[in-house]
Amino acid sequence: MNISLKTGLSAIAAIILLSSPFAFADHAWGTYHWARTANPFTLKMGDNLTSNWDPYLATAAADWSLSSVLDVTVVASGKNPKTCRPTAGRGEVCNARYGSTGWVGIAQIWVTGTHITQGVVKMNDTYFNTKKYNTPAWRNLVMCQEVGHLFGLDHQDENTTNANLGTCMDYTNDPSTNQHPNQHDYDMLETIYAHLDSSTTLSQTTAKGKNMTISDDPREWGREIRRSRDGRASLYERDFGDGQKILTHVFWAEEFSADRLSRATR
Ligand SMILES: [Zn+2]
Ligand SMILES: [Zn+2]
Repeated sequence: MNISLKTGLSAIAAIILLSSPFAFADHAWGTYHWARTANPFTLKMGDNLTSNWDPYLATAAADWSLSSVLDVTVVASGKNPKTCRPTAGRGEVCNARYGSTGWVGIAQIWVTGTHITQGVVKMNDTYFNTKKYNTPAWRNLVMCQEVGHLFGLDHQDENTTNANLGTCMDYTNDPSTNQHPNQHDYDMLETIYAHLDSSTTLSQTTAKGKNMTISDDPREWGREIRRSRDGRASLYERDFGDGQKILTHVFWAEEFSADRLSRATR
């Protein structure tokens, strides 16, 4: 490539970067993280999945374990997947037919101050059993993204129609090249987990929090923190006081319009 063409292209790239308010320079949402006393730390994920989902959780666990700061271990669990109650000190991953809720997947994180104490991922088979979403690419993307939220990662981009960034933390209508994390995700994890804490929330006995419960109904998710480019809320926060919050990350089904959502939540 000649120099002037190269300069021209990087100028265009710079303009695209500067003009995209939905590309987050810092895609940790707040400074939320698991408290731990050493790196790399191990986050357990309770498996409440039907067997057809197991390979996707295994892939996400292996992908995220490539991070230098954390490892993911999948453990047997016995939650009712419909309610998918959290377990202190770890994540729980569930699938069920949650109904025509509008969301394909959600990740919910309980925090005390800046520390994550427990998290839940729900994959909605009402959508994954349809022709559109019943593909390995969609299953990989949504599983990888929701598990990524449990570490404190946010989306890198929330415009579904721009070019894929090559990470599962990017909203898209085309999952093909967005099925796994990219280097920026691993870099962000190193930033989020650069410090060490004097205590840990990665334990069922030390991760204390209020007995906060929340359902998969958007009306219970609290205030909208952010809307994506197509007008749908991507992150909600329910504040229980005393620094106790539940955050809900949402992956909406494409056909679920903002209009329908506002009517449903009115
Ligand atoms: Zn900390
Ligand atoms: Zn998400």
